[in-house]
Amino acid sequence: MSLIEVKGLKKSYGDVHAVRGVDLEIAQGEIFSLLGPNGAGKTTTVEILEGFRHRDAGSVSVLGFDPQTRGRESRIWRDRIGIVLQSSLDAGDLTVIETINHFSGYYSNPRNVDEVIHSVGLKEKEGALIRNLSGGQRRRLDVALGIIGSPELLFLDEPTTGFDPEARRAFWALIQQLRSDGTSILLTTHYLDEAEALADRVAVINKGVIMEVSTPADLGGRATSQATVQWRDGAETKSEKTDNPTTVVSALSTRFNGEIPELVVTRPSLEDIYLEMIGGVDE
Ligand code: ATP
Repeated sequence: MSLIEVKGLKKSYGDVHAVRGVDLEIAQGEIFSLLGPNGAGKTTTVEILEGFRHRDAGSVSVLGFDPQTRGRESRIWRDRIGIVLQSSLDAGDLTVIETINHFSGYYSNPRNVDEVIHSVGLKEKEGALIRNLSGGQRRRLDVALGIIGSPELLFLDEPTTGFDPEARRAFWALIQQLRSDGTSILLTTHYLDEAEALADRVAVINKGVIMEVSTPADLGGRATSQATVQWRDGAETKSEKTDNPTTVVSALSTRFNGEIPELVVTRPSLEDIYLEMIGGVDE
């Protein structure tokens, strides 16, 4: 069964057509990433799924529920989802542990506060006031608040902005752990390496339209695209594009009688493919 089902979704702001007929299906247990340049319609789409914005047309089902519905059912539904928004919360005079404790009280089945603090790497800062946290630490707190309610579905909007490389890797491990525990995740990110590391499938959205939905490895024909073999030949760096890199490398190895100087074999990165798809610029 699909966890999220979106058909023909449309949303305009005056004459800005932000989302122009989006179809999406996200499966149970999946990490699904929405990629697109600034203004592509990601936040609009995600906030409609979260029940924060109203759609103009189309149908939306999230955990079998229409997020636009209000009332008691909506509160039960909210208990089953977790949200990490782009902008950080503003509760400067509370400590980390007080804040997480406070938020855990909103949920019927919260995770253990200590475990959550540990898993987002804030153990050393649990007694610190929020206003004294660094940007990356505040972001980790946002993530902690997103997962404290044991959500079945977690919305992550630009979760690692401001993280240092080590914190980002630790965060990826946390997300992978959440998936292993059965949490489905909708991830919005501008970091293509993050999508590649985490997502089972990605959708590229541009100007309000989904361009492709695929695994990161297959996006834009990536898996079957040509490889580039590069090596040093005397003072020159040479390269060759090929469908058969092994054959090229083998021939070079014979020519060089063994080790090929500065050999590099590459295929287009997810970022190369993505930039090509959206027209080369992040508008
Ligand atoms: P980013 O990567 O910059 O967060 P995004 O893909 O999330 O971008 P949206 O925020 O969904 O894009 O915006 C899509 C379009 O809708 C943009 O042209 C934006 O200016 C416009 N837009 C978004 N929210 C509003 C609003 N509340 N009122 C008017 N226009 C809006």
